[in-house]
Amino acid sequence: MSLDADRTAGGAPDAAPPFIPFNRPSLEGQEMELMRASVEEGGHTSADGPFSAQVADLLRAEVGAASVLLTTSCTAALEMSALLLDIAPGDTVVVPSFGFVTTALAYVRQGARVLFCDIDEHTLGLDPAHLDDLMDDSVRAVVPIHYAGIRCDVDGIQAVLDRWPRAALIEDNAHGLFGRHDGRPLGSYGRFSALSFHETKNFICGEGGALIVNRESDVERANILYHKGTNRQAFLHGQVDKYSWQDVGSSFGLSDVLAAFLYGQLQQRTSILHKRKTAFDRYQRLLEPWADELGLRLPHVPDGCEQAYHMFYVLLPDEPTRNRTLARLHANGVHATFHYVPLHSSPGGQRFAARAGECPVTDRVAGRLLRLPFYTSLTITDAERVVSELLRALDADPHAA
Ligand SMILES: *Cc1c(COP(=O)(O)O)cnc(C)c1O
Repeated sequence: MSLDADRTAGGAPDAAPPFIPFNRPSLEGQEMELMRASVEEGGHTSADGPFSAQVADLLRAEVGAASVLLTTSCTAALEMSALLLDIAPGDTVVVPSFGFVTTALAYVRQGARVLFCDIDEHTLGLDPAHLDDLMDDSVRAVVPIHYAGIRCDVDGIQAVLDRWPRAALIEDNAHGLFGRHDGRPLGSYGRFSALSFHETKNFICGEGGALIVNRESDVERANILYHKGTNRQAFLHGQVDKYSWQDVGSSFGLSDVLAAFLYGQLQQRTSILHKRKTAFDRYQRLLEPWADELGLRLPHVPDGCEQAYHMFYVLLPDEPTRNRTLARLHANGVHATFHYVPLHSSPGGQRFAARAGECPVTDRVAGRLLRLPFYTSLTITDAERVVSELLRALDADPHAA
């Protein structure tokens, strides 16, 4: 690794290669103009304004949902789903151990205990066979993630749930907006699904999210919880002559200024997805010839899957190699990163688990997974540099392929 040593030790500061961050938010269309319009023309900057309505219409049409409520985060949307299911102490929920903290936390806040499910080697989504082992009468919700915007085995999960009618399917679709499988949109399978517009996601507004309500029978109560426990929505629609406190709820709504920004992003959805696909395909094409020799496992996209191009990950042969590779990449200005620390063995996971359990695939994958820099404005030149630094970090000769 003499080249690496030269670069990090001796060189003058201005000789350092440009830093490639893991993520970089970008303006892709009319975001700033629309935010200005929200303040100066519309004058409705709180939740439930005209831009929120346009975003909700667009998402409802995409997913074929009964209703879409824009929230301050994906976490808030999952919390709404927990309230709508009346999750309470004594209930359990199943989440993938290879997942984000709030996928579990949203239900733990309501007093639920958690059952941690292992993942499938190929999609890195919830494993239906392990789910089958975990199920019992206490389970009220099963919350899979479409990891990297690639559909998890929803059919296998649904086949298990068909035998447990008390358990609702909730999709954490933070990665998968506009992903499809055999033409069917991700986020359309669950009773509810949740989206994120956090700065690290495909479509952003800083912080934001949405609750997708797929059943007509949940729409009225979802509106009450969303409007701070009141029937304000019915009042605004002239269905009641005054509004009052009815139910539990909170202040879940996204500011219309942020909805305006988000609308600017969503107007460019074709272009954003195309840019992300271009970056993904370039990584894939440059790394494929090295996969066998270096023991790399690249993302597996099942037949029929139109993925959402949320990330590009590589599985390295073992954890020490992964950690050494990350350190070398950082030293050379490429900010690759690991991903989820298994929830089942985290302090919070152990505290809130319904019972102890093992997730061996999760443990194996979490230690070996490395995510390459991936964002909408990533250029081909950036992708090429990332790959050549990755190959150098793995002691491969990038010029040999
Ligand atoms: C980002 C993310 C969340 C949380 O999203 P927020 O909008 O930050 O609350 C939840 N689940 C998954 C899978 C995520 O990637």
